[in-house]
Amino acid sequence: MTNDAIPTPSAFDDAALDKAFAAVSRQAQDEAAQLATPDAIEAYRLRWVGRKQGRLNDVSAWLKAAPPSAKKSVGERFKVLKDLVDGLLEQASGAGPNPAALAAEAIDITLPGTRRLTGAEHPITRTLNEIVSVFAALGYSVGVGPEVETDFYNFESMNFPPGHPARDTQDTLVVANQERRPLRDRLLLRTHTSPVQMRTMEQQPPPVRIVIPGKVHRNDAQDATHSPIFHQVEGLCVDTNITFSDLKGTLDHAMKALFGSSVKTRFFPSFFPFTEPSADVQISCIFCGGKGCRKCKQSGWIELLGCGMVDPAVFQFAREKQPAYDPKKISGFAFGMGVERIAMMKYGISEIGQFYAGDMRFLGQFA
Ligand SMILES: [Zn+2]
Repeated sequence: MTNDAIPTPSAFDDAALDKAFAAVSRQAQDEAAQLATPDAIEAYRLRWVGRKQGRLNDVSAWLKAAPPSAKKSVGERFKVLKDLVDGLLEQASGAGPNPAALAAEAIDITLPGTRRLTGAEHPITRTLNEIVSVFAALGYSVGVGPEVETDFYNFESMNFPPGHPARDTQDTLVVANQERRPLRDRLLLRTHTSPVQMRTMEQQPPPVRIVIPGKVHRNDAQDATHSPIFHQVEGLCVDTNITFSDLKGTLDHAMKALFGSSVKTRFFPSFFPFTEPSADVQISCIFCGGKGCRKCKQSGWIELLGCGMVDPAVFQFAREKQPAYDPKKISGFAFGMGVERIAMMKYGISEIGQFYAGDMRFLGQFA
């Protein structure tokens, strides 16, 4: 390494500049070729690109010395030289494509890669979306509401008065320490998605056509067909002149869309506080086609959902905020179904707990 200062070229024509820059470049390359230790590399860096005494500073001084007509050619050559020195430094310090480093980091592309599982809808989500899309095609929109509900929306406005025995059919998980509040304001985990019926009617006058998918909670012990948490899709249709035959036609269409066009439906009288009259809907057994088998207990029919015409008492609650829900002028129907039950039928699953166990061997079948 020589410590000689770099002389300013005596002339600034192209030939003289080429010669001067070539000499400096050669010197930079020769010195870089001998770098072996980190200390030597650091010394090289200071010697060439150091802020104060770096040799490139000497060369950049040529710019000042050059006559105006030659400044551009000096500048261009300086840029090339600077890139060269930067490249040499990078290569020496290992950041550049050093053949030894490249060989050490080489990847064996014949090895199998890390396999990432493709995501897929959970069978509950898929069934829920299928049900919703059947009704979406009929012009229904989707309503949602909170899972922690007040007694008013979950029970009272759905025509379950305080102390009514129908409340006992939905074993309820209540939020603790609510005793000081009035009953209607006490919080609980919703036992059905029906409260969203009232929340929707309070916010918009008729006509209403909504389906309400969601999670519900009951204090039920887990067994093969029951779970304390499950999913429902509820529906509500309110307009002028809605009749029971509209309800039958809608649900018959929906069951055929979900289970195939050969499925038949039949309606049995039932009771729900928020509908009058109320009915249970049965579909012809999808396993035996109605002949009778173990799954339908030899009856040929499977009970699948509840429904009915909206009770005028429910409209009276809605009228408190939306006067247009006058039971003398409008009518409507509502229905509700359990998503797990439908998914179990569709996919031939006998144990409800498998939906929630998170076992990939089970869930992978639906991917
Ligand atoms: Zn059957």
